[in-house]
Amino acid sequence: MRFSLSILCVIFTIHLSAQSNNPDIVERLKNNGLESLHSYEMLKNLTSTVGNRLSGSENYEKAVRWGMQTLKDAGCDSVWLEPVMIPHWVRGKSEKAFVWNGKKKEALAVCALGGSIATPKNGIRAEVIEVHSLDEVKKLGVKAEGKIIFYNRPFDKTKFSPFEAYGGAVDQRSRGAIEAAKVGAIGVLARSMTNALDNEPHTGMMQYKDSVTKIPAAAISTVGAEYVSGLLKTGKPVTVELYLECQTLPDVQSSNVIGEIHGAELPHEIILVGGHLDSWDKGVGAHDDGAGIVHSIEALHLIKNLGIRPKRTIRAVLFANEENGLRGAKAYAARVQNKNEKHLAAIESDAGGFAPLGFGVTSDSSKFEKIKTWSPLLEVVGADKIRREGGGADVGQLAPFTSALIGLNPEQQRYFDYHHSNNDTIDKVHPRELELGAIAISILAWLISQEGL
Ligand SMILES: [Zn+2]
Repeated sequence: MRFSLSILCVIFTIHLSAQSNNPDIVERLKNNGLESLHSYEMLKNLTSTVGNRLSGSENYEKAVRWGMQTLKDAGCDSVWLEPVMIPHWVRGKSEKAFVWNGKKKEALAVCALGGSIATPKNGIRAEVIEVHSLDEVKKLGVKAEGKIIFYNRPFDKTKFSPFEAYGGAVDQRSRGAIEAAKVGAIGVLARSMTNALDNEPHTGMMQYKDSVTKIPAAAISTVGAEYVSGLLKTGKPVTVELYLECQTLPDVQSSNVIGEIHGAELPHEIILVGGHLDSWDKGVGAHDDGAGIVHSIEALHLIKNLGIRPKRTIRAVLFANEENGLRGAKAYAARVQNKNEKHLAAIESDAGGFAPLGFGVTSDSSKFEKIKTWSPLLEVVGADKIRREGGGADVGQLAPFTSALIGLNPEQQRYFDYHHSNNDTIDKVHPRELELGAIAISILAWLISQEGL
């Protein structure tokens, strides 16, 4: 009896010391991060030496080399490329639109939506019809024939979450061309997906359907959208001209970039942290998703710099082609399945580099509750709000192979002001806010690695 009691005592003491070690490590992760602001240095370097990095472009391949080197510099035990075929859509040199206001022709700020076909060389010119939903287009019937459909449903301003407002408006961008073509329209203008009222068009993915005629589609700035809508309110017909030179080229051989710190005790159990290395070809993809890339690298770097080794493996994945295909995430998930790799959790950062508020967690309730118990530790960087539902488009592909999908939730009110536009530049990122996100991910990855899930 005395013997077993003393064993219990020893176990209890070991357990306690492991537990009580964590606050100290968390404090050091925070202090080192905030002293160095290393995430911002990396992001500055990525955005200035590579710039934007659309799938299939030379710049994306530059970003791959940048990712390899930066993961090595961060002290990863191993760094490698994972091959994946990615799409290659190019915007072309020129894209422009004009609206005829009586006899006057005025320029509109537009940009092709990702995946759009070009207009004929001489452009398209047609009367525009303003609509606010896909259903409204279906009801237009023959009235839409030969016209340009102008989707102008704004973000719902009453939504607290701009992500929710985006979700409520983005069908116009993604499926607008299909529905417009079905009723005989020849082109689409879609109001930019943002709450901001400015003259920058925001691009993003759009789709075609094999059985439906492909028609060109462009985003129009919110200022432009308001202007065209105002002209239409006079009741006179309004004509728009649109010129796009974009095209889809053959797929390109490319890569995900992966680096990891090997676990000391359970190296085959993996905690993934990731973001997407590609971006749209507007701005420099500083928030989307340069922030997620440097968050992921810095999460490992901070742990490595403490000179401590996690129990389990912590792996950073810089996914290829999130924006227009998710091919990188699909290839990664396929290999996880083939190799039967064990992913304890997959954490994604793809909501910008703003101050972290917490994490969204998709898991069973016992794992969710366990993560919630770490809230007081995450509070040191303000990231203590643990909510149900989370993850991201890339880690979402791992849903069948991991029991916890987790997404970093930063403050979000400004995200769509910049998203997929020329506004997404490094000056919109605050060095401390960015670093706090990396520290939050580092803390969470560390805790999962030590305590399991
Ligand atoms: Zn993104």
